[in-house]
Amino acid sequence: MKPWIFICCLAQACLQQAFGASSSSDAWGQACLQQASGASSSSDAWGKRKADFDQEHWKTVSKRLFLQNKLSGRESKEVIQAATGAGAQGHHLNLKPGHKNAHRDLMRSMIKDSLWPELYWAQIRIKDHKKGSIKHCWHPFLLPHEWLAQYCALPQAAEDLKPVTGSRYAQHIASTAKELGKPETGFIPVALHGDGVPIQGTLNEQSLDCFTINLPTSCENSTVRVPFTVMQKDFMLSSGETLDDILEVLCWSLRHLAAGVFPQSRHDARDWQEGDKKRKTLPAQAMPVQALLCEIRGDWDFFEQVLKFPAYNRVSGMCWMCQATYKNFKTSEWRKTELTTSQFLYRNSCDRKPVCALFSLPGVEPKVCRPDWMHCCDLGIAADIIGHVFMELLDEMPVTGNPDVKCAALWQELQAWYTETKAVNKLSKLTFNMFRHKQAAPKLTAKASEVRTLVHFLPIVCQKYWAQGTLHQKTVCSLVTHLAACYAALSPFDSETLGK
Ligand SMILES: [Zn+2]
Repeated sequence: MKPWIFICCLAQACLQQAFGASSSSDAWGQACLQQASGASSSSDAWGKRKADFDQEHWKTVSKRLFLQNKLSGRESKEVIQAATGAGAQGHHLNLKPGHKNAHRDLMRSMIKDSLWPELYWAQIRIKDHKKGSIKHCWHPFLLPHEWLAQYCALPQAAEDLKPVTGSRYAQHIASTAKELGKPETGFIPVALHGDGVPIQGTLNEQSLDCFTINLPTSCENSTVRVPFTVMQKDFMLSSGETLDDILEVLCWSLRHLAAGVFPQSRHDARDWQEGDKKRKTLPAQAMPVQALLCEIRGDWDFFEQVLKFPAYNRVSGMCWMCQATYKNFKTSEWRKTELTTSQFLYRNSCDRKPVCALFSLPGVEPKVCRPDWMHCCDLGIAADIIGHVFMELLDEMPVTGNPDVKCAALWQELQAWYTETKAVNKLSKLTFNMFRHKQAAPKLTAKASEVRTLVHFLPIVCQKYWAQGTLHQKTVCSLVTHLAACYAALSPFDSETLGK
């Protein structure tokens, strides 16, 4: 149970700190503006503001040392207390000196003034490994309607979340609001991301399923993923009850977020419990925000487990957007076929698959589900292209010998490019077997981040050897140039270039 609590607490603490950091820099910015406009001509007042800023800054920096795992609890405590002893102001720890329980005490102290809501504890069904049956356990959740209401209490924050007119989020909100008979201006979009992450330090490899929420239209915080909950895969019931219980809490929270009202009872309609004291006091009609789930992202495994999307080899069809099947996906037969929501649900019911509870939320349908870039592009298309290009490039290497010798020459060329461009996320080696596979087409086996860097090497090396080459080689040059341009449009994100 401990890791889940830790992750939630850590996320809470980090986000609290992010809030703190931005508010202190805002205050500093305002002070500078006032100074520039001559609002305060007194140098004393100016000096005081500067001191306030310095103290706030020290607090942020010292918190970051611990919350971002740069220093251990012991070391962080020692540094902060030593600094206070030497006269630093702004971060006074009300803790006894010494190493005992340093981590626990520091965590408590740092999240004491947190604006983040308390965790919501709900009973869910999990696997009982000892008895091989089902058991109930209390599990923590960070409710999206609670933290988003807190986040949007600041008018600037709510303003930052409004979707750009005409964007797909704005269009989705407009059509869903119309169905609900509500004005579209009241809603902001939220997105759900699901993925499994490996847990380090376990004897046999374990994975943790993470459910996170983000604010895709935020200019400030779109990349911040706020955990909703996490669950060790090993404890998930294969018959689906654990997932059903988790989704019940999520849908309850998101439904209230869509309605813009705080719930008046727990997710299972029971009365509030001991740990819900603060929730009890929230008025029914006072939420400063209304939000719709406009996007669900995940890999194929997540979609299959959670949304009951088909596996690649399901006979009735492999896709949730069209009628492609494993038999015909290599042909063009399916390209013009589309699958409507009702066709998708009907097909699932014919396959005796249950309907995912997320589809009961306003506006949530298969088309809001987006395959994730890392699996489809980094580890998919881009890795395929790199594998094929490297395979063909070997023939161009100015050395004679077997493929390993030629590969070494290509590796030298790549290393020179790495050095020249001061690249990060570099491959540590390049061998023939990393992209040649006996039973399958060439494909580079590498980490997603390494693939992302390599994509920009392709146009350089292809142009060098193939700019005046055959039609096929010139076509490859064109392909890799477009691929690199596509990746360049990802960060900073440029949807217009990407669309081209
Ligand atoms: Zn499809």
